[in-house]
Amino acid sequence: MYSFEASKFLAAELLIVGAITSSVSAQNSSTCAGVSDACTSLSAHFGDQILFPTSANYSAENLNYWDVRSSDLASTCMFLPTTADQVATAVALFNQCGAEFSVRGGGHMNFPGSNNIDDGILLAFDQMTSITVNTEASTVDVSPGNRWVDVYQALNATGAYAIGGRLKTIGVAGLALIGGHHYWNNKYGFAMDNVVNYEVVLGNGTQVSANNATNHDLFWALKGGANNFGIVTKFTMKTHQVPLISTTALTYSEEQFGGDIGAGFFNTISLNITTGVVSARIAGTQEGTESPPSRFANFTAIGPVSSSTNVMPPVTWHGALKTSDQFARVQFQSKTMTPDAARLIEIYQAWKASVTQAADVEGLQPTFVLNVISASGAKVGNNNGVGNVWGLEEKNLIIWQLSNGWVNQADDLRVTNWAKNFVDYHHSINQASSLASEFLYMGDIGENQNPFLGMPLANVQRMREVRSAYDPAGVFSNLNWGGFKLGH
Ligand SMILES: Cc1cc2nc3c(=O)[nH]c(=O)nc-3n(C[C@H](O)[C@H](O)[C@H](O)COP(=O)(O)OP(=O)(O)OC[C@H]3O[C@@H](n4cnc5c(N)ncnc54)[C@H](O)[C@@H]3O)c2cc1C
Repeated sequence: MYSFEASKFLAAELLIVGAITSSVSAQNSSTCAGVSDACTSLSAHFGDQILFPTSANYSAENLNYWDVRSSDLASTCMFLPTTADQVATAVALFNQCGAEFSVRGGGHMNFPGSNNIDDGILLAFDQMTSITVNTEASTVDVSPGNRWVDVYQALNATGAYAIGGRLKTIGVAGLALIGGHHYWNNKYGFAMDNVVNYEVVLGNGTQVSANNATNHDLFWALKGGANNFGIVTKFTMKTHQVPLISTTALTYSEEQFGGDIGAGFFNTISLNITTGVVSARIAGTQEGTESPPSRFANFTAIGPVSSSTNVMPPVTWHGALKTSDQFARVQFQSKTMTPDAARLIEIYQAWKASVTQAADVEGLQPTFVLNVISASGAKVGNNNGVGNVWGLEEKNLIIWQLSNGWVNQADDLRVTNWAKNFVDYHHSINQASSLASEFLYMGDIGENQNPFLGMPLANVQRMREVRSAYDPAGVFSNLNWGGFKLGH
């Protein structure tokens, strides 16, 4: 199947690349070499859709990142396409010129180089924000410049809902390509499991659809395989008729959870490094209007210091969960394990003690985060006829994550080293007691962790075959090299 589809592309390449790039390449002909030439060609063709460091909006655009570390990088030029055809033209040009580039959706991946680039071209999706709701098909078409709150807002009028990001401003594209934790993965699977069609620009500039009937292997690979295969210019996602949701926001003091609640779903546990005060928060939602939501009864029974339960449209809930760009210099490190209350409490206590060793890092904001993967959630992906690249066993798992914010570049390596050593050591204890899972979620890990090592080898090999078939020139490995890449 791969070789058949590959040969189709190679034939199509000769016809289509020539056509779509003709107007741009006419200006640079065969002499185009590198980033600077590609920027010049794009500028001649697309005018003020190209920003240079001297352009009025360049600096503001370079701040559209959650992680300050991403804004440390500065591209030679930025291209803000408005259509898929423009994306295709640009990628064909990058390929032709051998120009390195980076792609930005919502700009939230805290992996420097994943979404910005020094001495390269940034292709940023700010101006591709259309959303089309198809009520008859129960789907929504989403362009890659949208944030999840935009999708929930567009669906609100029809009482529909989609499975996507939990916080307001997370980008649709990056989250859907790596998996996508929503509150209701247990019933609907992950965001990736809800995508029924991808429109994709390949490395040679051709545009293809990937769905259950067409390019099925690419369809599978895009479900969790990240930015290794092409640029997605449209996601078509299933929608679900859920006009109202029941919500709960619970806050606990440390005394309330120190003993026996480790296996529960504490979304975030924050330590104020100055006062030493720990605060744990759960943000949960439940389908329907039963309020307070009964699925959280065990958490409510602990007696939180504050709680707020409501019934509201999904967009109201998501819209209130903000996380601002330029949050801090931020890095995640995480590991995955079988739920075990005693062991999770041990890790939590060890984290608290360990954090004090880095207390002099200016502006340190340490948070211990727990995310759940349920057996039933894994099952949704495994039984929908296409699967996903994770290939998860159908068992409950907990991702335990350190999220650290800090202020100064001078502390980058120190924080990275400290956090990595911490998670590696405690993971090794989990390995020794058969509690460890090697699964790593790309949305929760650092740039020094390799998520592909935690996937079944057969799936990684299949992804590499898909990559060879759809991107034989290696555009999304060598020119667009940032982010979680399959490697060679
Ligand atoms: C505060 C915060 C909250 C989060 N909450 C959640 C959550 O609730 N659930 C969850 O699952 N994850 C969550 N994450 C993780 C999040 O899903 C990832 O960081 C994700 O990559 C963000 O997508 P983005 O489009 O904003 O990121 P970007 O940084 O723009 O993109 C991420 C990667 O995808 C590539 N990319 C972007 N657009 C495209 C495209 N159209 N085609 C091909 N490649 C593309 C980029 O080049 C980059 O490598 C959270 C992260 C943060 C920082």
